[in-house]
Amino acid sequence: MSNEKSYTCSCFCGAVQFTVTGEPVEMGYCHCESCRHWSAGPVNAFTLWKPEAIKILQGADNIGTYNKTPASYRKWCKTCGGHLFTEHPGIGLIDVYAALLPELTYTPRVHVHYQETVLPLRDGLPKMKDLPKEMGGSGESINE
Ligand SMILES: [Zn+2]
Ligand SMILES: [Zn+2]
Repeated sequence: MSNEKSYTCSCFCGAVQFTVTGEPVEMGYCHCESCRHWSAGPVNAFTLWKPEAIKILQGADNIGTYNKTPASYRKWCKTCGGHLFTEHPGIGLIDVYAALLPELTYTPRVHVHYQETVLPLRDGLPKMKDLPKEMGGSGESINE
């Protein structure tokens, strides 16, 4: 048994339960239009995990998937519509929304897709125009 910390997550109604184990690869805020439209919020707080960090405990049959683009497979609960996580096959990571992880100490390090922002956040963190190079972006930073 590993002694890594596990965090239990659930959808809005609790039908779907899963855990993430260990530490996220990256944490930050996404300002892209897709995240805003999907989440119905002005900015999305993300935590990125390796796929093996995630285990579905309950309700696997109740998970719906929608992919508008091949970059993002967005998952939600078919009963309550609550968002669960998003698979990013291109970078091999899964985004678990920070809002589902109340026990995780959320320490954002970067803002991505900041050129699309509708809610500028002047918190002093790096602002990527789109994505870091290792995630297929330009790697360019822009001013707050
Ligand atoms: Zn649900
Ligand atoms: Zn986004």
